[in-house]
Amino acid sequence: MKFDVVVVGGGAAGVDSAVAARRHAPDASVALISPAPDLFYRPWLVYLPAAAVPSQDLSIPLPGIATQHGFVYVKDGVGVVDPVRREVVLASTGERIEYSQLVLAPGAPADRRRIPGADKHALFPCDRTEAALLFSRLDEMTEGTVAFLLTGERIGPGLEYAGWIARTLRATGRDAVRVILVEHGDALDLQFGARAADKLVSVAGALGVETVRHARPARIDSDELVLSDRAVGAELIAVTSPLRGPDLGLPSELLDVRGLLKVDDTLATPSFRDVFAAGDFCDVQGIGMEPPKTWIMARLQAETAGRNAAAALTGDRAVGINRAKVARMAAISMPDVGGRTLFVRNRKPVVGGSWPLRLRYRMDGKYLSQYRDRPGAVRPVR
Ligand SMILES: Cc1cc2nc3c(=O)[nH]c(=O)nc-3n(C[C@H](O)[C@H](O)[C@H](O)COP(=O)(O)OP(=O)(O)OC[C@H]3O[C@@H](n4cnc5c(N)ncnc54)[C@H](O)[C@@H]3O)c2cc1C
Repeated sequence: MKFDVVVVGGGAAGVDSAVAARRHAPDASVALISPAPDLFYRPWLVYLPAAAVPSQDLSIPLPGIATQHGFVYVKDGVGVVDPVRREVVLASTGERIEYSQLVLAPGAPADRRRIPGADKHALFPCDRTEAALLFSRLDEMTEGTVAFLLTGERIGPGLEYAGWIARTLRATGRDAVRVILVEHGDALDLQFGARAADKLVSVAGALGVETVRHARPARIDSDELVLSDRAVGAELIAVTSPLRGPDLGLPSELLDVRGLLKVDDTLATPSFRDVFAAGDFCDVQGIGMEPPKTWIMARLQAETAGRNAAAALTGDRAVGINRAKVARMAAISMPDVGGRTLFVRNRKPVVGGSWPLRLRYRMDGKYLSQYRDRPGAVRPVR
């Protein structure tokens, strides 16, 4: 089989890349390969402990999106990418699919080994299956402690999970379960700025979440998080989350130390101009900043990667990603801590409360409605 554009991954980046490639090259044959049969809306995972959205509303079947946007959906994982032969090898059948242009968007699973002992004793609820495990273990808890270690590239979900879980525990009368956030080093300050970090800690505190600031985690044991100066006992320990690139058999010189694909501002790899990356899997170099690993950023990158893959088919010039927009979106964060937020811009608190969340919910609803083939929740019930 051969396609003009092959997209690997069916998340935010993969789907938007395939759609952009088709939009910019309407006659091109485009295939999207993903083992998961749905586009899964990860930002809403944090609402599931509170049953604030129905779980089925996080999933949008890929076959429907493919039909609607004119690309082929192949349900399989890619085991190996061979950029020299310009082909990918499917993981379960071994079938080879050739491409003219390739967009790699397989996401970035948790790096389970960056914190010693975490692999064995902690859950990584940024990954879908581990989130389900966290929820079922939480359901059984009537006392004890659940601790979230905020570390690595993606700390936001830990803060959000803690807020929604604390809120749910109080609502269900399970006051004997403690929720503790443990900040690795200055993780909160680095992401939100010192003043906003303090405010977010007090938003979480109002819901009953305790916080250990500026901790130095040494390792995770079966029932405790061992810090440089103390240990935090916990029956359930979750880590959110260091990230790493999935193994696609790519030459190591194309990858950074985390296994993410190094790309320039056109989102192409310098040594294979027909291989692009988008979303969590890409390490964009030479734009003066590392874009955060977010849904919004994945979509921005997908627009550029899909457009450039399409342009290469017709010999058109590749364009660089819109740096101003990347910087603007990277400067904004609005974590949903149990239904309350702080709107943070340029690492400074702008406005708090619950109303800025309406903007976020509007964006969620708009995005989901674009791909859904049936009605579904457009915001959490608070
Ligand atoms: C709990 C949580 C909350 C979040 N909250 C927010 C938020 O509020 N706002 C925000 O902007 N971002 C948020 N994010 C981040 C956001 O979800 C990610 O940045 C985004 O999902 C990245 O999209 P992606 O397409 O690169 O990767 P993913 O969404 O991880 O998709 C990867 C896709 O690739 C497929 N795949 C994996 N391996 C292979 C393979 N070998 N071959 C083929 N396909 C493969 C997977 O099945 C999946 O379809 C959150 C993330 C989590 C986990």
